[in-house]
Amino acid sequence: MNDTVTIRPNEGWDPRILVCACGTLVDTFIVLTERYVVIVDTMLNGTTAQALLAIAREYQGRRQLLAVNTHADWDHAWGNHVLVGASAETQVPIIGSRHCAARLRHRAARAELAHKRAAEPGRFDDVQLTPPTILFDDALAIAGGDLTLQLFATPGHTSDHIAIFIPQIATLLAGDAAELPFPFVESASTIPQMRASLERMAALNPAVALYCHAPVTSGPKALEQNIAYFATLEHHCRAALAQGAPARPPADADVEVLVSFPYAAAVPIELDAEALAGFYRPGHQAAIRMMLEYLDGSSA
Ligand SMILES: [Zn+2]
Repeated sequence: MNDTVTIRPNEGWDPRILVCACGTLVDTFIVLTERYVVIVDTMLNGTTAQALLAIAREYQGRRQLLAVNTHADWDHAWGNHVLVGASAETQVPIIGSRHCAARLRHRAARAELAHKRAAEPGRFDDVQLTPPTILFDDALAIAGGDLTLQLFATPGHTSDHIAIFIPQIATLLAGDAAELPFPFVESASTIPQMRASLERMAALNPAVALYCHAPVTSGPKALEQNIAYFATLEHHCRAALAQGAPARPPADADVEVLVSFPYAAAVPIELDAEALAGFYRPGHQAAIRMMLEYLDGSSA
């Protein structure tokens, strides 16, 4: 696996934001403020985090380096050991939610790391699960001078997720709280949280929105597309339940047919649904099952 990190060409957003890409796997950000160079997410291993650190240092000058974790998922926070701890050549404060730190300390994270090491030998060997070092619960501001990074909780994709709004340039860094063709919910019970987080981000009325898993040209419209996705999903699942569909369909059930909401209809027209199907079709089917379960539970 070639984990090369590149800087995406600027397509119109404020030049103080660098969008760093690890292939098609994930985009992360580096924000250049007067006082701080802020690395937003550390990607997936030492190789990718070292690349981010090198980019940040190129721009650093007299500025302090800081880092932020949007959440603890492997493609966002598994490079933390490059910035914090005994193996790090320099110590960079990493800001994250208290939930994020707890997730990285949890045995589930260790189990996932063992699993991924076995599945892809070499790629994750250096990873040392490292929690963020400056923790907050609901909101935190980084006053960079010219730009302020407003960090705020956006649970739903995961319980620990935070997004970033920069008011001076009306720019939202959504992380994985929104993505295209649609975001991933953690469980049936967190569907309302996910939808509330989408509404909260949309209410900021950003002029620019950037995501970790969506084309850089998606814009704030993707928030509305995600909101519409869950509304449509709810509509179809409610109708199916009203007609007697089971709230917990058997494992072999074709749930797209069951609720009359095919995968292709869930993908915004400007995206290539077929090319994305390997990952997002199972995601759509999982979302249908979770919405059925949620609606059944909330009406009981
Ligand atoms: Zn992600």
